[in-house]
Amino acid sequence: MTISSIDTWSVRVTKDTLVFSAAHFITFNRSICERIHGHNWRVEAEIQGPLDENHYVFDFIALRDGLQLLVQELDHRVLLPARHPMIQLEVSDDEREVTARFEDRRWVFPREDCVILPIENTTAELIAQWIGHALIARLKLNHQHGLTRLRISVEENFGQWADCWLHLSAIDNVSGEPCNSGTAGAI
Ligand SMILES: [Zn+2]
Repeated sequence: MTISSIDTWSVRVTKDTLVFSAAHFITFNRSICERIHGHNWRVEAEIQGPLDENHYVFDFIALRDGLQLLVQELDHRVLLPARHPMIQLEVSDDEREVTARFEDRRWVFPREDCVILPIENTTAELIAQWIGHALIARLKLNHQHGLTRLRISVEENFGQWADCWLHLSAIDNVSGEPCNSGTAGAI
């Protein structure tokens, strides 16, 4: 079969296991901070690009497993934003606790129960973006055969999805790690 230059492809993974249960709280409209609460977040990934020598865009299994590992890292954790302008995080000297502060409110968590993400707010949109950058780094998606775009979608509640499209040729040198190895003190 002749492959037309105008044909395009994508691969997509969505699985019942690509779900993580995690707590978070976001701020919005500057001064409103939610109560801490949880979701069963569902994650889906799609990669666009040309076919490789195997006549596929990207290995389904590698994509599935890479995403599954990230999902497991977020599962049963409290998600905290390291770059929030109004939520201050502080890890205790012995690295056993994290204290989050917003105005006169304070939350203290076991450090091991938290994932501190390098994002401004733990919205579904920014969680999707972080997962996307992490997946690109770990699967080296920028160094493949001309893959063009990655979509990460995160469902925060039934039927409420946030999609983040990442252009694969335009991003590089982005860490795929959360801030879990940070030193004690303010983050
Ligand atoms: Zn929420």
